Amino acid sequence: MNPPDPNADLVARSRAALWHPCTQMAHLETTPPLAIARGEGPWLIDTQGRRYLDAISSWWVNLFGHAHPAINAALIDQLGKIEHVILAGCTHAPVVELSERLARLTGLGHAFYGSDGASAVEIALKMSFHYWRNVGRPEKTEFVSLVHGYHGETLGALSVTDVALFKDIYRPLLRISRQVENPDARLARPDETAEARALRAAAALEADLAAHAGRTAALILEPLVQGAAGMAMYHPVYLSRARELCDRYQVHLIVDEIAMGFGRTGTLFAAEQANVRGDFVCLSKGLTGGYLPLSAVLTTDAIYAAFLDDSTARGFLHSHSYTGNPLACRAALAVLDLFETTDVLARNRDKATRFQRIFAELAAHPRVCHFRTLGMVWAFDVADAGPGFGLEFHRRALQRGVFIRPIGASVYWMPPYVVEEPEMRLIAETCLELLGPA
Ligand SMILES: *Cc1c(COP(=O)(O)O)cnc(C)c1O
Repeated sequence: MNPPDPNADLVARSRAALWHPCTQMAHLETTPPLAIARGEGPWLIDTQGRRYLDAISSWWVNLFGHAHPAINAALIDQLGKIEHVILAGCTHAPVVELSERLARLTGLGHAFYGSDGASAVEIALKMSFHYWRNVGRPEKTEFVSLVHGYHGETLGALSVTDVALFKDIYRPLLRISRQVENPDARLARPDETAEARALRAAAALEADLAAHAGRTAALILEPLVQGAAGMAMYHPVYLSRARELCDRYQVHLIVDEIAMGFGRTGTLFAAEQANVRGDFVCLSKGLTGGYLPLSAVLTTDAIYAAFLDDSTARGFLHSHSYTGNPLACRAALAVLDLFETTDVLARNRDKATRFQRIFAELAAHPRVCHFRTLGMVWAFDVADAGPGFGLEFHRRALQRGVFIRPIGASVYWMPPYVVEEPEMRLIAETCLELLGPA
């Protein structure tokens, strides 16, 4: 029998007082949350001192580990100056500097801030629709997105999301958006390359736009990796083709870099690997290194200019109370400093190469299929995974000190960049143990 849970008090109080995200609360009794007391680099430490490797970067947000001295110092410095101020009618150094630096990095500008990823998606969708209205194309009211795409869970973001478990219940509330075939390389035919598979999906996009571009405001997609689809990876040619088609059919391209931005795929932004720039880019998650909620949407000068007018109503009147929060902006500036001063991308490339052999045995395991990696993201599918597979794998990995949450039959890890070979070996060994003898 299991010994009594030493965290029982916190767990019980949590169950009574909270409503945990993405959780069936009736299941909490069998899968209690960990009571985390502190973090240290890639490690989470619970109230009993047990350590868990944060293999999924606390839901894809953490970049440089927990309690990072440089980010901590930036926040402490900012606390002594101003914690928050309204951004309508006021401005401040952290938000100005962050906007300038994000513009240099993305090639887009006019940063508009929200708090979570979903709010950035709402902002981009509204801006695109409102742009077409301002330029005399009010019939462009629809959006197109990819099968199994994920863009967040507020109503607008959910309507362009295509994950049945999150979406089906709410369909009556969602405005119509269309989904087109995704370029997921796993769906390649036996003799088809990833590139040919991506081009086949691009042909489906072309057919859709040829028919519906007149009423379509924008295409929104996750570049190179569809995260919530279970780290579905695809060939960059799809992005360049999507860019060409959006230009040809006068449809905006919204690039959702919320999960894959800030180095996850090996480049600072994933779309760089196809040399593609969106008309909008959405950023969040790693933007603050996983410290504070902050999101941003950047766009082109041409789109921005279409909102300039004597009429207030032609402006973009969207707002959130914490828009451009100075503390969150300071965390983001500290993150950008780390990218500049420690050559993170080159170091990650070197790490990913060194880690390759650690995962060779796992990749060859007979239950493992579609072992895939890009930058600092790794994933594989378990061919014979049953319905309870993910939760069971999660539970058993915790007993071995690894916090990992499979999506359906896909096991993945995208750890903070501070991991080294021992942490990667722990993941490989844990997966091999849980998959059983070959
Ligand atoms: C997580 C995510 C979002 C939503 O961000 P939240 O902060 O959870 O609202 C949007 N798009 C992508 C690609 C994401 O991974």
